Amino acid sequence: MLIGVLELQGDFEKHHQIMSELGIESIPIKTHHDLEKVEGCIIPGGESTTLSILMERYQMINPIKSFSKSFPVLGTCAGLIMMATGVQDDRITPLGILNVQVNRNAYGRQIHSGTKTIQMHWKESIFSIPATMIRAPKIESVGNNVTILADWEESPIAVMDGHHIGMNFHPELNNVSLFHQILFQPKSQNYYKPNQEKNVS
Ligand code: GLN
Repeated sequence: MLIGVLELQGDFEKHHQIMSELGIESIPIKTHHDLEKVEGCIIPGGESTTLSILMERYQMINPIKSFSKSFPVLGTCAGLIMMATGVQDDRITPLGILNVQVNRNAYGRQIHSGTKTIQMHWKESIFSIPATMIRAPKIESVGNNVTILADWEESPIAVMDGHHIGMNFHPELNNVSLFHQILFQPKSQNYYKPNQEKNVS
């Protein structure tokens, strides 16, 4: 499986590292033609207003939307904002890939950013993982079809909608490969950092 990392803006390099740790090849997505080569896509964090402008300029909006009908997409932070159905900021053109409504910068400014330990639920297991939130968006509501993988302070922070995952934090900054693995290596049971796993049963 070849995965593309959107390289218009943001921390794309770290996502390539995670993919390489998982033994999955990844290439940059710089134009919509690159999407034709891959079977999955990552939209990194960064600045969603800039990402939105660049996606429009490079005519990526419709190609990514149609790509997502057949292939998995993973988004972190600004990537989650881009993947949402609704965003409170009308400078953003959301892609409508994840059935969630988000509110940009709802957790405060840079100074309120930081790393917390959160519980991630996957199948019968709970994973305790670090989650770094940087001017994170808040997921205000989710559609009925959306699975909440993790929440914090009573709001969802990681969600799965069909074959897509969005997070308001940056797993790639803490070398957490779990979400990438679930999406892009769905048959794998052997999760990276298995010592963080606590079995519920
Ligand atoms: N606050 C940024 C935005 O609204 C997201 C920050 C991030 O991706 N870390 O786009």
